[in-house]
Amino acid sequence: MRRIRVPLPGMELGHVNSYLVECEDGLALIDVGLATYDGAVGLLRGLRELGARPQDITRVFVTHYHADHITLLSLLSQITEAEYYIGERELSIGSNFDGFLRGLFEEFERHGAPKAFLEEVKKVAPMVRFRKAFEDVWQLPWIPVRDGESLPCGLRAVWTPGHTPGHTVYVRGAAAFTGDHILPKITPNISYWVKIEGYDPLGDYLKSLAKVRGLGAMGYPAHGDPIQDLDKRIDEILEHHRERLAEVAEILTRGPKTAFEVAREVSWDIGQFDSLDVYNKFFAVGETLSHLVHLEFEGVAEGREEGGVVVWRLVEEKLKNYRLT
Ligand SMILES: [Zn+2]
Ligand SMILES: [Zn+2]
Repeated sequence: MRRIRVPLPGMELGHVNSYLVECEDGLALIDVGLATYDGAVGLLRGLRELGARPQDITRVFVTHYHADHITLLSLLSQITEAEYYIGERELSIGSNFDGFLRGLFEEFERHGAPKAFLEEVKKVAPMVRFRKAFEDVWQLPWIPVRDGESLPCGLRAVWTPGHTPGHTVYVRGAAAFTGDHILPKITPNISYWVKIEGYDPLGDYLKSLAKVRGLGAMGYPAHGDPIQDLDKRIDEILEHHRERLAEVAEILTRGPKTAFEVAREVSWDIGQFDSLDVYNKFFAVGETLSHLVHLEFEGVAEGREEGGVVVWRLVEEKLKNYRLT
């Protein structure tokens, strides 16, 4: 297995890792990159350096539907005949692109995000900027991947919802291709997308971390360098969410607030909310919301709609010093 670092121009992450895997009857890639000139040249050059031709790629496995992982397939699919695999839950998002975006922005507005702010988000959101590439990519004849399924190229699928609803980690022997489920330096963004009864993305994510624990595998993330000790990294990420849940609960002790208002008070690693760029603010609100929703599932907080906006408050005073065990 070899790694190609595909550039992500204009994204703080800098690059996405595309992994080249040898199969019985060809080559496979795990994630491909962002549909930009730099991305296309980076992937093609990387393949050439590894002695592979695009037409040798017979399978592409995608960890999740985000633009930086999937949209470069709009180019690659023009120059190779491959099979395309993705977690089955991701496919439901692609079939209703407009509805998905509308629902997403309506939901953020319901949680206190100002209209003008959301208009700014729409200008920079990858799902809007890479709309054409997304539309092309969703036309591909995707093969849905199910949890635990054995796949070609010796891969096994582990469904890891959280970062996205259908995120899938691919395991091959002592290697786990972790996508954005487990990253070495940053904690993967766990946001909240649509209002579905019983949808608790952070709860899903915490369970999905447990699914990858104990594999004894080396982690190959979509961004950054390999992770030697996956279990240790999982512990660090768990601790981060424990602290953030406690902080969000603590903020609510100062009175009822919308998710947007809570997000402004959280101590973000990259700086105060008001100093963040518009897209990081959007991430911050989504991250806050996923924590509030999880606190509701834990019976600690409660969100009630008041005049079209959801206001959050702690359920009981005794939960002031809440901590997830
Ligand atoms: Zn992602
Ligand atoms: Zn990513």
